[in-house]
Amino acid sequence: MSHLMDCKHNTELLSQSQDRPLTWRERMAMRMHLMMCKGCRNFEKQLAIIRKAAQELTRKL
Ligand SMILES: [Zn+2]
Repeated sequence: MSHLMDCKHNTELLSQSQDRPLTWRERMAMRMHLMMCKGCRNFEKQLAIIRKAAQELTRKL
């Protein structure tokens, strides 16, 4: 499926989405990829957990 971006690009976008707003085109491509790709869904989950933990740590400091 050539319209799907590869996992490396997708994880880069996921990381960037923590720092900047993605364009709708990027978000669409990311959602499409996440629907098809279990590996990247797990990565997204872990990223959310890490982010939450980091926020809680920052609050405590
Ligand atoms: Zn993937």
